[in-house]
Amino acid sequence: MNPAAAEMMEQLIHRGIRDPRVLDAMAGIPRENFVPENVRDTVYSDQPLPIGYGQTITQPYMTALMAELLELRGSEKVLDVGTGSGYHAAVLGKLARRVVSIERIPELCVMARANLAQAENITVLCGDGSLGVPEEAPFDAISVAAASPHTPPALIDQLADPGILVIPVGSRDQQDLRVVRKQNGTITTRLASGCRFVPLVGSQGWPEDRREKD
Ligand code: SAM
Repeated sequence: MNPAAAEMMEQLIHRGIRDPRVLDAMAGIPRENFVPENVRDTVYSDQPLPIGYGQTITQPYMTALMAELLELRGSEKVLDVGTGSGYHAAVLGKLARRVVSIERIPELCVMARANLAQAENITVLCGDGSLGVPEEAPFDAISVAAASPHTPPALIDQLADPGILVIPVGSRDQQDLRVVRKQNGTITTRLASGCRFVPLVGSQGWPEDRREKD
């Protein structure tokens, strides 16, 4: 592992990531393969970085925290909403049996498919992930890497029982990371952390506006 990647791993442990499967997965995936060349120098720093089309690759700590909160053990089918670079999907692909990842920006779908070409258990779809992927449901776990004004009902419907959904919910500028658990037909929600994500733009997220067209 290169020194910057080793430093990132130390930071994750220092910030409280404990699941050895999550740490192993992140240690085994070269993050530099998922970003444009102009940001490769800083790809192991704990911050989101631009990947084009006004979007970002999520900061490593948040990727690790979300993966840990899903409590994956290897047999699950996972929905990943907001593929972006494909890095988060790659991490989930190491932790679960199958990952269906969905991205609304066609150019990012093409980029993520290329980045994930070697990952046989990951499928990248292009479309509005705020509606989930009904034809692939139910999902044992759902990870949403874009911020929504509320938890989309479609995603709760498509969550298996038992199942865990992790999603940033709040305003366009600041959100809480919600952990939504479905068990014995009951839905419970807890807040795991403050966070700041780009908006989930879609029928059950935010309406498109000028900021997403920049
Ligand atoms: N997980 C990604 C990674 O590791 O690179 C980063 C995701 S980035 C913070 C959020 C992504 O969600 C963006 O690529 C954005 O285009 C996408 N997105 C926003 N709204 C969406 C929607 N309704 N359906 C699918 N993707 C959406």
